Amino acid sequence: MNNDFRKKEGTSGYNTHPLGTDARIEFKLAEIDPDGNSTDGIIRVYANDIDFEENEENWLFDYLPHYGYWNIQEYINIWVFPFEPNLLLGQSSVPKVDLPGLENSVITGTTGIMITTPHFGTSDLVGGSNLGKTLTHEMGHFLGLEHLWGREENADCMAFDDYCEDTPIVSRRTGGCSNAPTSCNGEIALTQNYMDYTDDACMNMFTKDQAERMRYVLEKSNTRKSLITSSSINRN
Ligand SMILES: [Zn+2]
Repeated sequence: MNNDFRKKEGTSGYNTHPLGTDARIEFKLAEIDPDGNSTDGIIRVYANDIDFEENEENWLFDYLPHYGYWNIQEYINIWVFPFEPNLLLGQSSVPKVDLPGLENSVITGTTGIMITTPHFGTSDLVGGSNLGKTLTHEMGHFLGLEHLWGREENADCMAFDDYCEDTPIVSRRTGGCSNAPTSCNGEIALTQNYMDYTDDACMNMFTKDQAERMRYVLEKSNTRKSLITSSSINRN
């Protein structure tokens, strides 16, 4: 994820596209747990030890926190859960902040990101989502990005967009690694963007406007800004 957010040379997160941007955002595994003890930031819980009824409306985000939920002002909770491959890749909660598309976000329940085990990390993965870009994509949502097509596919091209001016307007997702379709304005769609649905091997960029949007969320959103100064990592 850091390779992708930093557009790090020599990695699958690097690109030479004129719009490709180093978002200058980095992530660290927690080093200090909520009790003040050292940690590697990873906790493992046996599913059988959790007693919970799946009758909630937003069951993923009501259910997964039972496995572990650290203070969201200090930590980003990422739950890795063993679903079947390609059923569902991941999901993220969205921030609320004074940006188009985010002013009216409803912040209820829990905050975090869910990634399914078949699409998490970079080993033993299956299908086209096999290089860990699922977490990069979901972290994009966590920091306020929309899909390139906005929220409704096949909508009128101009009806709704992703609020980033430098991503060509498209009305639907692109899968696989095929040639990029043209956008609503006849430009080449940015299918290599992390906020499309292309295969991981063909994804390698955030744009400048996307980076600015994420950085604004990180600096201004009440459920994100304290992460910058979190006491969960050692700052020597
Ligand atoms: Zn998405």
